[in-house]
Amino acid sequence: MLNNPDRSLNPEEVPGRISLLNEHVEEACSKAYRARGDVQVELAVKYQTPAKVLAALNAGSHLLGHNIIQQLEASEKALAELSAPAHRTHVIGHVQRNKLRRAMEYAQCIETVDSIELAKKIDVIAQQMGFATYDVMLQVNSSDAPTQFGIAPKELPALAENIASLEHVRIIGLMTIGAHSTDEREIARSFALTRRLAEDLRERGHQHVRELSMGMTGDMAIAIAEGSTIVRIGTAVFGPREV
Ligand SMILES: *Cc1c(COP(=O)(O)O)cnc(C)c1O
Repeated sequence: MLNNPDRSLNPEEVPGRISLLNEHVEEACSKAYRARGDVQVELAVKYQTPAKVLAALNAGSHLLGHNIIQQLEASEKALAELSAPAHRTHVIGHVQRNKLRRAMEYAQCIETVDSIELAKKIDVIAQQMGFATYDVMLQVNSSDAPTQFGIAPKELPALAENIASLEHVRIIGLMTIGAHSTDEREIARSFALTRRLAEDLRERGHQHVRELSMGMTGDMAIAIAEGSTIVRIGTAVFGPREV
């Protein structure tokens, strides 16, 4: 197991944590008989300073996830000023309709789409911004948690079908936050369900559904065993967040 830092780390400490994380991911892949190249690490950078995010990018990270659109914009602007290495950024938090345009200006994918209304708005903005298509993932409420965003599993096929008719939106995968539980089997069940839902969508002809964004610091090994292609990691790399 990867021991997590007990305090918020300094930028100089980030590269070492990324090395440890990579070893941990590699081990989880090998235990699951999966190729290391099939799993990407997406750094969840909410509340992290640009200096820390820059340190991570300089250490080889190339995929970031933001929850809060204001932070996304400020962080991406600061990184551009600092001539940060090229990277891709996803939105991993719920997006309010009035923040959508800004989200799409600074991020290349929204992982948290869970309604046709939101997807339609993305379609309109994508067209206005001149994108052929804009990448989204559908967030699934895989553990039936009343407090979680995300579409219910049984409503997913119809939502995907409706979104597929939008010209400028492309569904590239599913995202889920696993069950909040200390029972590993319960967590694994929520991830396995999400993987099956993605397989089902591919069988229904949604051929771009390739990504499974699932797993965080506490449950990444379980997620990788259940087929995750993107693990979203904050604490293991940056330490606990100072909010
Ligand atoms: C913050 C966050 C993460 C990362 O959580 P850690 O436990 O710090 O690794 C992953 N996914 C989402 C949606 C988050 O908001």
